[in-house]
Amino acid sequence: MIKEFLQDYSKKTSLKKTLYQLIHKNGPISKVDLQPHFDVPPTTMARMIYELEERGYIESAGFGEAKGGRPPILYKAATNTGYLVGVEIARTHVKVMLVNIGFELVETKSFSLTNIHDPKRTLKLLVETIQTFQQVYEISDELLLGIGIGAVGPLDRKRGIILNPEDFPAEGWENVSLFKELQTFFSCKMTLNNGANTAALAEYHFQPQINRQILYCINGYGVRCGYIHGGALLHNDAGDASSFGHIVIEPNGRLCTCGRRGCLTAYTSLRAISQTIAMKEQEQQVIKTTDLSFDQLIYDYQVDKQFVREAVMEAAYYYGLGLSTMINILNPNEVILHGKLIYQVEDYFQEVINVAKNHIYSNQEMKIRKGTFGEDAAPIGAAIQLFYDYF
Ligand SMILES: [Zn+2]
Repeated sequence: MIKEFLQDYSKKTSLKKTLYQLIHKNGPISKVDLQPHFDVPPTTMARMIYELEERGYIESAGFGEAKGGRPPILYKAATNTGYLVGVEIARTHVKVMLVNIGFELVETKSFSLTNIHDPKRTLKLLVETIQTFQQVYEISDELLLGIGIGAVGPLDRKRGIILNPEDFPAEGWENVSLFKELQTFFSCKMTLNNGANTAALAEYHFQPQINRQILYCINGYGVRCGYIHGGALLHNDAGDASSFGHIVIEPNGRLCTCGRRGCLTAYTSLRAISQTIAMKEQEQQVIKTTDLSFDQLIYDYQVDKQFVREAVMEAAYYYGLGLSTMINILNPNEVILHGKLIYQVEDYFQEVINVAKNHIYSNQEMKIRKGTFGEDAAPIGAAIQLFYDYF
């Protein structure tokens, strides 16, 4: 079983695991292309490959291009050897994805978090979802390699605890011991990280390049950032990626949820946009807007409601300003933006880019783009992180 192999951290197995990892990441790949990564004779390499293939962890994937002589056999990781569960716990929803060891999607399920979804009810639903996946796809405990979770911080990553996040719709989201609760039902490896970080990892994994520095920004109910530098995630101990939302963009400005004034979140979150609309309506003595949902906001924008349009573009302006500050500090070569407004309102996306670009100091080449994986980024990245954790 590959689970046993991955769980073996002995020195004897470490070279074979590294070889497996390289084939998993770069396959289909030939022995010749693998050889430079290892300081072992070709016969040893051939024996290790034979063993991995015999055990069914890797398989041949046709032939490569012949460079004089016979074309080389290419190898890739077999995808039916194990499965991973990736979970995103956001403020408004939980998304659960079952992927095979090659990160191909098998099944996905989401549920909304409302004011009745305290941690107990939410974890019960999560457990039931994973158990159903196991039953439907006949995934034994041996085949389940682990559960990776991307959540809203702050977190205790090592102990698997959600500490005291802002703004969950239900009460009780303080000191939620995810690992402890889930370990009652599942005897497998678990990892926890901020959803912004796991989303960044998803983007990195499928296009890994050395020196690729990715800044991944999620903008929705709050603002969160993940940052990858040279293949490694940058994170603080508390797994809190929300601090970006509290950089000051307006001295003595609007009151923020954190109790301070002038934070980015106070101008760009959904609640902030709702408040801007309400203020504009009040000035014009029309009916006051209550807190909007993103879907309602985007609908109102598209039907050209005047105050909504103004408020959304104002938020884009402030978001662009905040983004330029992050870019000036971190100097990423790629910035990936994620959020419903980013994906669905093109004018908003363009305005964020324009404002950011007008305030970026460096003239090094940099790309600002939308996320490739949309809503799947954080849960897929959580599964990827769990897999990485075996090596
Ligand atoms: Zn704040």
